[in-house]
Amino acid sequence: MKTDILVIGAGPVGLFTVFEAGLLGLKCTLIDNLDKPGGQCAELYPDKPIFDIPGVPFQTAQEHVDALLKQIEPFDYELVLNERVESMKEVDNGWEVITNNNNKFDCSNVFIAAGAGSFEPIKPNLDCNFSNLENKKIFYSIKDKNLFKNKRVAIFGGGDSALDWTVELEKIGANVSLIHRRDAFRGAPDTEATVRDLHKHNKIKLLTPYIIKDIKGSEDIECITIFNADTKEDSEIEADYILFFYGLNKKLGPINDWSLELAGNKIKVNTENFETDREGIFAVGDINTYPGKLNLILSGFHETTLAVQKAFQRVNPGERVPFGYTTSSTKLHEKLGFSDNK
Ligand SMILES: Cc1cc2nc3c(=O)[nH]c(=O)nc-3n(C[C@H](O)[C@H](O)[C@H](O)COP(=O)(O)OP(=O)(O)OC[C@H]3O[C@@H](n4cnc5c(N)ncnc54)[C@H](O)[C@@H]3O)c2cc1C
Repeated sequence: MKTDILVIGAGPVGLFTVFEAGLLGLKCTLIDNLDKPGGQCAELYPDKPIFDIPGVPFQTAQEHVDALLKQIEPFDYELVLNERVESMKEVDNGWEVITNNNNKFDCSNVFIAAGAGSFEPIKPNLDCNFSNLENKKIFYSIKDKNLFKNKRVAIFGGGDSALDWTVELEKIGANVSLIHRRDAFRGAPDTEATVRDLHKHNKIKLLTPYIIKDIKGSEDIECITIFNADTKEDSEIEADYILFFYGLNKKLGPINDWSLELAGNKIKVNTENFETDREGIFAVGDINTYPGKLNLILSGFHETTLAVQKAFQRVNPGERVPFGYTTSSTKLHEKLGFSDNK
């Protein structure tokens, strides 16, 4: 199905694009390679306060993302997570965007809101090849926790994700082993205390200081070898699934291959409508550059607001871009599902 605007990246700027496009009656599809929307705000600093969102004196970064998601609720948009956009090709009146899962999306406009590039999970550095087990038995994020119900799950990592999922999966009956290279965690102290309590009551296994050494198995995981950093001894554990929560690397990703004019790692745009040197491809937010560019959320909001005007003209050639204040336009109130009687 053809969408009006295909947005690469569901960070704050990608999310706000849905709002501004929605006001003009345009439909967006957002694709992000992370397992949740919110980009840097949700991934890098969810609990940190932001003080420079206009009209919002204080919000944590996650609260900001939640507010943006609330703000776009009235609009019909599609959010595709856990997929990375790999390539784009020009088709009749628009673009075809292709992801790493070979899903194809036809669209009239592409908005690259890819921030600092794609975040990729850090994988363990092992001699064995375990790629055949990836996305079947080995995961770096969780799409559906029910997969792990009543299963043996080995979780590796020492941050919030490792701790949170240990607690969550134990709750749904998974037999969890949490393995970390030292007996100290980087995550929330409260969750760490819960994990230690679960271990004390034999509800989970906490194995420290261990690092993973080997994984055996082709269709299923047959055994996992772990190495004790204190005793220098190997031991074996069994699991149906492995979850690695070693954090994320920021990578520019495939943007380099999209034949767009770049300046360093950034995409060059004009400041009238933030279009790149290719018609119908726009770059908004941290990914773009122009004289005076600031990597701030509010700059990205401004950029995408102007970019959707041009996107509207491409979808509706010859039509005037409608302009209205959200305070007083009854048409906009209808789109926002707002009635004076409410
Ligand atoms: C610690 C910290 C504090 C900050 N504090 C502030 C502040 O107080 N005020 C402020 O205004 N700004 C702040 N910023 C900057 C702000 O977070 C960024 O300006 C903002 O996140 C940019 O939004 P974005 O939507 O352009 O990109 P991002 O938030 O980076 O989101 C881009 C998304 O695109 C995805 N992506 C990239 N490539 C692909 C691909 N090929 N396929 C699919 N998905 C892809 C990424 O996974 C990511 O989720 C801070 C940044 C940091 C790190």
